[in-house]
Amino acid sequence: ALCNPELSSLITERIGGGWITNLDALEKLAPYAGDPAALDAFLRVKRQKKEQLCAFIEAREGVRLSPDFLFDVQIKRLHEYKRQLLNAFSILDIYFGLQDGRIRDFTPTAFLFGAKAAPGYYRAKAVIKFINEVARLVNSDPDMRGRMQVLFVQNYNVSYAEKLIPAADVSEQISTAGTEASGTGNMKFMLNGAVTLGTLDGANIEIVERAGIENNYIFGATVEEIAALAGRYNPRALYKSDMRIQRAVNTLIDGTLDDGHTGMFRELYAALLEGASWHAPDHYFLLHDFIPYCDARLRANRDYADRAAFAGKCLLNVAHAGSFSSDRTVAEYARDIWGCV
Ligand SMILES: *Cc1c(COP(=O)(O)O)cnc(C)c1O
Repeated sequence: ALCNPELSSLITERIGGGWITNLDALEKLAPYAGDPAALDAFLRVKRQKKEQLCAFIEAREGVRLSPDFLFDVQIKRLHEYKRQLLNAFSILDIYFGLQDGRIRDFTPTAFLFGAKAAPGYYRAKAVIKFINEVARLVNSDPDMRGRMQVLFVQNYNVSYAEKLIPAADVSEQISTAGTEASGTGNMKFMLNGAVTLGTLDGANIEIVERAGIENNYIFGATVEEIAALAGRYNPRALYKSDMRIQRAVNTLIDGTLDDGHTGMFRELYAALLEGASWHAPDHYFLLHDFIPYCDARLRANRDYADRAAFAGKCLLNVAHAGSFSSDRTVAEYARDIWGCV
């Protein structure tokens, strides 16, 4: 209600204000996913939140984004298991695909990142550097003007989250299955009307259970599939057999991108293909999930072109977000675990 008063009004006008203290009441919004006037109103709110974010980003970052673009957002702590590097590889794959004509009918997209790395987490800092260099490559290519843009915002924090989340169309929740205990960012995006592009990990599982798999974009290995790969996963074989994987990964070492002679990018490359710091190569299965991720991402991009249908998916996500209230969680603890009510 505080960070998205526009969407709050849209909801309250239709189902009353009870949802603010009883989030399950959002269910009453579900029938409006088939109401053209409500979908239109939702799209106007989303547009307004994008315009506000664009103004904020222009002031803060000196970068001008277009509110006409699809906004694809990954904001969370920087960690290998959250796989921001997989996102960056997929952006490169889309970039190369647009260049060579493999990808057509692409809805212009702003790929946004926000994250902090722990002070001593050198490899996480290398990923931040890598994404910034991908952004430099893409944003400086005149052929990409009006087609795609990449930005890593500075000093991501709660105040920034309040601006980014309401403006998002696609919520990136792409951790390796079995690594994210729950996640809470995923719920914030859902509540603000974004679809989840994600793995069956953490609370993404419950999100899809409630909002429907058809209203989200799920891809990648399950926990069981990851477990079955134990001891026999061969990322180098994947790399050798797939030219798209090879091209994206090779940007770490072929001079496409510049890490300022630190060796940071070569270390990332080695971690993926040789193993480093007591981990097996590609410990988080980026290469295994790479093609399914790119496919799901392009599917979301194509679906987005039908603005009303996509808005329907977004609205159904809002309608089914009620159980992700902390009030519901605490009430359940009080009853089932603490036995105090
Ligand atoms: C919600 C939130 C997080 C946690 O995000 P996850 O996607 O669940 O990891 C981290 N930082 C900020 C600023 C947040 O608002």
